[in-house]
Amino acid sequence: MNDQQLLRYSRHILLDEIGIEGQQRLLAARALVIGAGGLGSPAALYLAASGVGRITLVDDDAVDLTNLQRQVMHATDRIGQPKVVSGRTALAAINPEVEVVALRERTQGERLAQLVADADVVLDCSDNFATRHAVNRACVAARVPLVAGAAIRFDGQISVYDSRDPDAPCYACLFPEDSGFEDVACSTMGVFAPLVGIVGAMQAAESLKLLAHAGRSLAKRLQMLDARTMEWTEIGIARNPDCPVCGPLRIG
Ligand SMILES: [Zn+2]
Repeated sequence: MNDQQLLRYSRHILLDEIGIEGQQRLLAARALVIGAGGLGSPAALYLAASGVGRITLVDDDAVDLTNLQRQVMHATDRIGQPKVVSGRTALAAINPEVEVVALRERTQGERLAQLVADADVVLDCSDNFATRHAVNRACVAARVPLVAGAAIRFDGQISVYDSRDPDAPCYACLFPEDSGFEDVACSTMGVFAPLVGIVGAMQAAESLKLLAHAGRSLAKRLQMLDARTMEWTEIGIARNPDCPVCGPLRIG
């Protein structure tokens, strides 16, 4: 690190749990952020401010007036721009040292598998189950930890699915792919603006901890927030030995 970097990251370096070594890990790290909306905004902003070396933003949408109530990475004068381009502008303004890869696409299949395998941590900031399950499958296959957040109305949840740990569940252990969960979109149900900020910032926190090897992650624990009363509930989550996604990994 040069003098400017030592200054920029000094408040992380001062932390015993991070220090110079942890900060260097962040500078060398690669994060994949799926979704540049309400959750992806605070998550990516904190990753960039913290100096995560390469941040890949994936989203196929453009900035719309209705996004600005909660998607704080975007701005009024960028309405109409691809969200990933608007996001890259915001992240570069905070920290020009970070490499931001902006991919305007709905990534799936082999392409998604490659992006995940090329990342040290994946943040699922998407808003639909099809994407969540595709991202989970790719993370399990590549053994890359997944930090998944969700927020709707006043309800939020977050956990870490770390398939490097043989005892830790994957997303599908908890929410089976055939469970028939309906997508509840912000566009129809509404979402309390700071809720996505709270959950997205926690996704950044969990990702930074994983990357810097600091603290204990949320793996095997699901945190649920009711923002009406601002009460958190934590439940322990176990691996499903019959999970069709990660179950087969146990054999042998
Ligand atoms: Zn599983």
